[in-house]
Amino acid sequence: MIIDAHTHLLPEEVADHRAPFARRDAAFRLLYEDVQARLAKVEDLLKTMDRDGVNQAVICGFPWQDPALCRVGNDFLWECSVRYPGRLLPFASLSPRSLRAGEKELERCLNRGFIGIGELAFYQGALADRDIFRLTSLLKPLSGKGVPVLLHVNEPVGHEYPGKIKGSLHATYQLLQTLPEVTFIFAHWGGGFFFYELMREVADAAARVYYDTAASPFLYRPSIYSLALRIIGPQRILFGSDYPLIPPQRYFREMAEVPLPARVQTRIKGLNAQSLFAQKPGSGLVRKDQV
Ligand SMILES: [Zn+2]
Repeated sequence: MIIDAHTHLLPEEVADHRAPFARRDAAFRLLYEDVQARLAKVEDLLKTMDRDGVNQAVICGFPWQDPALCRVGNDFLWECSVRYPGRLLPFASLSPRSLRAGEKELERCLNRGFIGIGELAFYQGALADRDIFRLTSLLKPLSGKGVPVLLHVNEPVGHEYPGKIKGSLHATYQLLQTLPEVTFIFAHWGGGFFFYELMREVADAAARVYYDTAASPFLYRPSIYSLALRIIGPQRILFGSDYPLIPPQRYFREMAEVPLPARVQTRIKGLNAQSLFAQKPGSGLVRKDQV
């Protein structure tokens, strides 16, 4: 079973006419105003999955500032997952701008059957304490539920690109400390966060953290796989392509070139994700007053 744990799909209206949405949302403008930045249709994703031998894919939208756009995007992801049963696993986007709307949307989506949250992201400026506070209150009801939260984390050094912010790693650690019972997937190898799991207290705080490989070929040499395996072992690494940014086969080529042992590849390409998603109790959300 091969599972791509990180892809993006936006409603066709957005994919076909991105300009009005770029005017409405500054982060979307930053990432997608350039028409070279790819947006995919669900049929394209499925075709790529079939070609590259991917059985299932987590589908994420975009973390719009406007809660109404998150809602429309989530409805679209849900429809896709229903249209292609067993192939697409929807994660819900939430706007951290409005806590009340975010909480409502979280509850609505989990009750509907979404299996995770994300990709949540801050693509602009520096992460303020206020942002951490909001995220903490929004995600607290997920404590102990095993519902994974996919969080965009970028590396603190290296080349610049749209959406790369400063202070990402520090904020990530703060979140782990304030939400010790929430399961996270840190995207993009957690911006290198796993390296700090060599520190005992960070390893303890990160016990529920998974790392995905999204955008790895654009960021790191393939030896990052061996390094991550030495530090955190094979169980918390998830293959994620960030499709349509990079197709799955490019990751598979890198894993074969490293080379990674077949049993490790099996884990990274699907087994780890399979057991992570199986942890989900599937009984909807426990309300805040119950936790
Ligand atoms: Zn990301």
